Amino acid sequence: EAPVIAVDGPTASGKGTIAERVAASLGWRYLDSGALYRIVALEALRAGIDTADGPALAALAQGLAPRFEGRRILVGGEDVTEAIRAEEVGIAASRLATQPLLRAALLALQRRARAAPGLVADGRDMGTVVFPDAILKVYLTASVESRAARRHKQLMEKGFSATIADLSKDLAERDARDMQRAEAPLKPAEGALVLDSTHLSIDETVDAVLGAYRR
Ligand code: C5P
Repeated sequence: EAPVIAVDGPTASGKGTIAERVAASLGWRYLDSGALYRIVALEALRAGIDTADGPALAALAQGLAPRFEGRRILVGGEDVTEAIRAEEVGIAASRLATQPLLRAALLALQRRARAAPGLVADGRDMGTVVFPDAILKVYLTASVESRAARRHKQLMEKGFSATIADLSKDLAERDARDMQRAEAPLKPAEGALVLDSTHLSIDETVDAVLGAYRR
């Protein structure tokens, strides 16, 4: 089977940017698993499905056939690339991610992304649950302050508004939900390279991952 590099870590730790760059540099595919949870969240909000209704969420997820075209994400012909980045969608995604039935429904979809010559997958449970046989597992963290500042910059660039104080509070709540849930809690996978990017540039972080892969 094609090799996988798993990049896990808390919200806004820079996983997406790092995983995407590592994939580009190796010529591998890239899976943004958080986008799948966000797509389900967006559709659930629209359909009025409760974020605690596991069976309904699983059914919804099974009926979705998201298409990843470069940086665009299409669901049923609609481009949802921007819509799924809204803060309220992220919060709903974090809530529904505690549902075991939904997580199970998304498992096959994630594993189908594995293809030659390789896959870099980013999320919360890539190394622990989805791709336990990954050849390299990375756990990327950064301080809450620096993550809130990064998320703030990202949201501003996309035209959303938010304060750093609100974002810090929200990040801390999301961390707690991700780390304390019974199903696939966020934690470093066994043997994971733990990287704290608080004082690292993007290039330095990418180099650290590539270096670990080549070693
Ligand atoms: O990574 P991102 O912030 O886009 O993910 C949205 C939410 O989906 C996260 O807050 C997390 O709770 C959930 N998630 C997850 N498992 C993954 C990816 C994301 O539980 N593999």
